[in-house]
Formats: sequence, C-alpha cells, structure tokens
Amino acid sequence: MNIQKHPTFKKQFTRGLFVGVFISVSSAFTGILLSRIGFFAIGHTVTLASGFLVIGTFLYLTIAFFNIRCPKCGKKTQTHSDTAKSQWLASCSDCDLDWDLEIGYKIE
Ligand SMILES: [Zn+2]
Repeated sequence: MNIQKHPTFKKQFTRGLFVGVFISVSSAFTGILLSRIGFFAIGHTVTLASGFLVIGTFLYLTIAFFNIRCPKCGKKTQTHSDTAKSQWLASCSDCDLDWDLEIGYKIE
C-alpha cells in the first residue's frame, strides 16, 4: 500500500480541537467568575456545562477520527495506527492507499 498525506484532516482536527478547548476553557472561566461575583446558580450551571463541552469535544473528535472519508473516492476509510512509525493512518481498500493523518509522533 502506498502512503499519501491526507490533504485536509490535520487542519480540520486541529481546528476542532482548538475551538472545543477554547469554548470549554472560556465557559469554565465565565462560570467561576459568575460564582465569585455572587451568581452561584448560573455560575455553577455554566461551569458544569463547560465540563460537558470538554466531553463533547472529545467525543466529536473521536467520532471524526474513526469516520474519515477517502479524499480520492469518498469511501469510508479504516483508521489504524502504524505501529512501526507510531503514526495514524486511514486506509482505503478501493484506492489501495494509506492516508497519513499527520497525527502522532514520528520516530525518524
Ligand atoms: Zn479511496
């Protein structure tokens, strides 16, 4: 199987992670701040919601990670790690290609 770099996945994944973490952290801060200035009920609700946002972000990224479509033919790929290189790959059996997701550490 040939290995090619996936053209969009890393960007989408990084953006999703950044947006999710940013919203979670800012809502956690807002919640703590609201509690500090006396709005306990709202503050605790917002802080609790930020916890769910963290879980939501994690779930979304996990689902996205295991549901990658082949950029060439649009078929669902099989996500797996390449143990030799410690990289994540998405295999398309139709194109006989391994898409390098550029996530993970590389030993070079
Ligand atoms: Zn394909």
